[in-house]
Amino acid sequence: MAKKQYPTGKLEKFRKLILEKMNVVADEVVTIQDGINTSKNPNGAMSQDSIYSVHMADAGTDSHEREKNYLLMTREENYYRNLTVALERIDTKEFGTCIICGELIAEERMIEVPNTNKCVSCKLKEKLNLV
Ligand SMILES: [Zn+2]
Repeated sequence: MAKKQYPTGKLEKFRKLILEKMNVVADEVVTIQDGINTSKNPNGAMSQDSIYSVHMADAGTDSHEREKNYLLMTREENYYRNLTVALERIDTKEFGTCIICGELIAEERMIEVPNTNKCVSCKLKEKLNLV
């Protein structure tokens, strides 16, 4: 089966879009990192006891906030990795081609999930174990 491909011009447009997204994600990661750093106990000398007795509520919020930030961070890092994968696929011109049926994947889908390598219907079939 002949595999379809996005024309080079289109691929370059996708590349620009992905690079822009990567910049945004990188900025967000910096912001999250700042959040993690500032939410770390600012009074390093303070003992565990005093944190819990004096600032019990605050400490709870802090650790919750930190946990949230770490989760967010992991998500951003994964997303960043996905974008890197997408860029590699643009280089090899595999980008936007379904690895199962060889058809082009809809542009909107490629913008939404740039690292995808399956079209919606193949993805669905896969989910239902039909492939
Ligand atoms: Zn497909």
